[in-house]
Amino acid sequence: MENVDESEIKKFEALASRWWDPNGEFKPLHEINPLRMNYISQHINLAGQTVLDIGCGGGILAEAMAHHGAEVTAIDLADASLSVAKLHKLESKLDIIYRKSSAESLAQQEVAKYDVVTCLEMLEHVPDPSSIVNACHTLVKPGGLVFFSTINRNLKSYLFAIIGAEYILNLLPRGTHSYAKFIRPSELAHWCRAYKLELKDQTGMGYNPLTKKYFLEKNIDVNYISVYHKPQI
Ligand code: SAH
Repeated sequence: MENVDESEIKKFEALASRWWDPNGEFKPLHEINPLRMNYISQHINLAGQTVLDIGCGGGILAEAMAHHGAEVTAIDLADASLSVAKLHKLESKLDIIYRKSSAESLAQQEVAKYDVVTCLEMLEHVPDPSSIVNACHTLVKPGGLVFFSTINRNLKSYLFAIIGAEYILNLLPRGTHSYAKFIRPSELAHWCRAYKLELKDQTGMGYNPLTKKYFLEKNIDVNYISVYHKPQI
């Protein structure tokens, strides 16, 4: 049994042609991308590093990391998104390897291969996020870093990330997220501890509806991004 929710894959495939429209359904991902990229760069200089991006979609983050000099491999299970990503990298003249694979099956082939693994805005779309955490641990080299971002689960995140973002501000299509799949930082930390990844840092991502700007903040009540470290053996 693969750790995949086919209805989630279909949802992203239906929107695949929209991945690179900066004003389309993925606008929030385009807007938070520089923030996420800065956060990653604060923790590691990506130039010359091997990076695996899990759940890459159309390649928004993968391309940004390749622009920073990383050797990026990026995986997803949505064929249509991978096709869009492969076309777009030609336009961008970047060397990125896109593969259709789950994290778990790649982990069976590539043990301790990557300096950095990124898994952003993806854990809340899979049936068993802890299995992805386990695969990340296998895929990253000892001493390497794993970045996760997802959405916290509490009343405020329900109001902001679902009611606010999907129903009031229309930042995201309705049905993009399901509250039950949101992940508390403590749950992520628990899975990471179980699979021997150590928390290095964690920060929140906020949105100001008046200025329509996203920003990094201490508060991790809603969106957050975390960096974990795989200890040397
Ligand atoms: N990481 C990208 C895209 C996030 S959208 C970014 O932040 O810009 C979530 C992505 O996860 C979609 O492209 C979806 O197809 C993918 N996805 C969902 N379940 C998956 C699974 N089990 N394995 C791999 N990718 C998956």
